Amino acid sequence: MYFLTIFLIFMLGTCIGSFLNVVIYRFNTGMTLGGRSFCMTCNRKLAWYELVPVFSFLSLGGKCRTCKTSISRQYPLVEIATGLIFSMLVSRFSEFLPHTGVFLSHLLYHMFMWSLLIVIAVYDFRHKIIPNRLMYIFILVALCALFVSAQGTIVPSPSSLLAGIAIPLPFAAIWYLSRGKWMGFGDVKLMSGLGFYLGLSQGIAAVMLSFWLGAVVGILLIFFRKSKYGMKSEIPFGPFLIVGALIAFMWNIGLFELAKVFIFK
Ligand SMILES: [Zn+2]
Repeated sequence: MYFLTIFLIFMLGTCIGSFLNVVIYRFNTGMTLGGRSFCMTCNRKLAWYELVPVFSFLSLGGKCRTCKTSISRQYPLVEIATGLIFSMLVSRFSEFLPHTGVFLSHLLYHMFMWSLLIVIAVYDFRHKIIPNRLMYIFILVALCALFVSAQGTIVPSPSSLLAGIAIPLPFAAIWYLSRGKWMGFGDVKLMSGLGFYLGLSQGIAAVMLSFWLGAVVGILLIFFRKSKYGMKSEIPFGPFLIVGALIAFMWNIGLFELAKVFIFK
């Protein structure tokens, strides 16, 4: 039963991921989210069997059926990532499984939040900008959830409220003093949202993890890409923050757990 739930939620995740791809591609282009998907090169509308998440990409060999243009690998990757993150949410909140209502409300809330974060991460990776509208929705919902969950299983703490303000504060100062050169304001807003969403301990852990990840990837890029990605090149930081948040959130890593890494017996 448990594995069936995980499997079904994974399938649901790939379908939602398919929709998130549409949001990522059409956001800020003036196109609506409705209407059948079409090939961006030959404009042919896609048949139903070309719209099955992951499977269609594999069966078409990653190419459009008529014009043979390569389909971006972003499509199956976002679909699989969404499926995986949704299944991880099931295991993260499996303790609530016997209480269907509580379990479903947790699942739906976090599915919505992670869908937003996936779109923000991929959009930032592609365009090096964090879409404001999506960011404000994330911050607002995370902030509201602190009050709504008071009657339920999560006890909102004043520290969670503080987290959304305190965590981004030093980085807002860096943004201001460097005039946006060392840190974008989009990243500052993202940190605020993650602070409200994860709370103080997990929020700080997420930011620390993202800096470590960023450092490792930065060093690897300098080694393997030579001068193309020098020190000056701008690698968007948003995706790192979101991966850091994913690790901290899914494995319940707070400051205490992070500190334990450095204390060997
Ligand atoms: Zn085509």
